[in-house]
Amino acid sequence: MLRSVKGLKDILPQHASQWQHIETVARTLASQYGFSEIRIPIFEFTELYARSIGGTTDIVEKEMYTFLDRDGSSLTLRPEGTAGVARAVLEHKLLDSPSTRKLFYLGPMFRHERPQAGRYRQFHQFGVEAFGTDDPLIDVEVITLLWNFFSSLCLKDLSLNINSIGTQEDREGYIQKLREFLSPTLTVLCENCQRRYSTNTLRILDCKVPSCQETTQDVPVLIDYLSDTSKIHFEAVLDGLTSLQIPYSINHRLVRGLDYYSRTTFEITSPHLGAQSTIGAGGRYDGLLQVLHGPPTPAIGFAVGLERVSLLLAEDQTQKKSPLFFLAGFGDIGKPIAFKLLYELRQSGIRADTDHKARTLKALLRSADKLSAEYSIILGDDEAQSGNVIMRNMHTKAQEIVALNELIQRIHKGC
Ligand code: ATP
Ligand code: MG
Repeated sequence: MLRSVKGLKDILPQHASQWQHIETVARTLASQYGFSEIRIPIFEFTELYARSIGGTTDIVEKEMYTFLDRDGSSLTLRPEGTAGVARAVLEHKLLDSPSTRKLFYLGPMFRHERPQAGRYRQFHQFGVEAFGTDDPLIDVEVITLLWNFFSSLCLKDLSLNINSIGTQEDREGYIQKLREFLSPTLTVLCENCQRRYSTNTLRILDCKVPSCQETTQDVPVLIDYLSDTSKIHFEAVLDGLTSLQIPYSINHRLVRGLDYYSRTTFEITSPHLGAQSTIGAGGRYDGLLQVLHGPPTPAIGFAVGLERVSLLLAEDQTQKKSPLFFLAGFGDIGKPIAFKLLYELRQSGIRADTDHKARTLKALLRSADKLSAEYSIILGDDEAQSGNVIMRNMHTKAQEIVALNELIQRIHKGC
């Protein structure tokens, strides 16, 4: 038997309604907050990701699906959405108006990682990006949208962690101090961190290896090194969250170790996800558009991993579907009338189905049960001739005769 590729998974029909629900909540909220959808390609020139994500990140170092096109150009399946959105915004000149361009996306991302619960090689993200302002209130709006997304899905026990990493200039002095602090401990850090020491020191704070976390427990704190402007910005973001009663914790370890990241960084975690506890993360990236040869443009965004959201959603929290009506038509006269009725029910917005393989009433009712139909509409030759149908409640087995020409109205009234 042919199997799917390792780390990829099918979303089977029994989970589709949960995914539709997650996506509907994402679209609805994004639109309420004034974000418009953008659909970008699932692969781009490798150079876009190499430049915008940065050569010293896990993604670019070891996680990208990169391949050569037939003309020899190097292409990469998108590992995240921000780079493609930024490219599209510049290519289509979306920055001229309105003054803040707010965009969201939904779709699959690809990273070559070690597959485990909550970590796949193809996964889905919902993300937003707001370009054009560094006002701390847009940071508050973006974080609030992420928080509301999870609360609309009734996810429990979440924590919002927040930090400010200042500007690139703010960080220069700090990184110097960090190196001095870490230099005597270098040999006990993990291999990755030893490499990061010279390539991307800040990322050592982010290391998940317990012994590294222990070694770096008392490192100098980044926000002590921020300029006054960056401190004021951070305080304004925190004040905004407090005024909206969004609970947060300041986490000094929360860093995004790339030069173009600045100021606000945040993540939302759940204690119910084991090792993969982060469900959504984001931050300000005021320098990115310039890295892509665009004009200086402040920007902020987040991305949520939808598989992790799905793992947290209990089955019973999925959206309740409208009741299913099963058309049990049989006999030479009854069957064609039932088939027409099936079409009319669907036309009027009622969820309805039948089973063309079942020929007898007994077989039809068995199929209705298999499809978990709430009601069966029984329509044999006798019913057809008298202009009636029998409506059977599949749970209570109670039956009722209803005039054919009143049926749709009755269903709409809620039976
Ligand atoms: P992690 O620390 O879990 O590797 P990350 O920092 O690489 O996360 P981001 O690039 O910030 O993740 O992506 C945002 C979100 O996308 C994550 O919080 C997570 O929910 C989800 N995500 C990232 N990688 C994967 C993956 N391989 N499989 C499933 N979800 C993922
Ligand atoms: Mg990762």
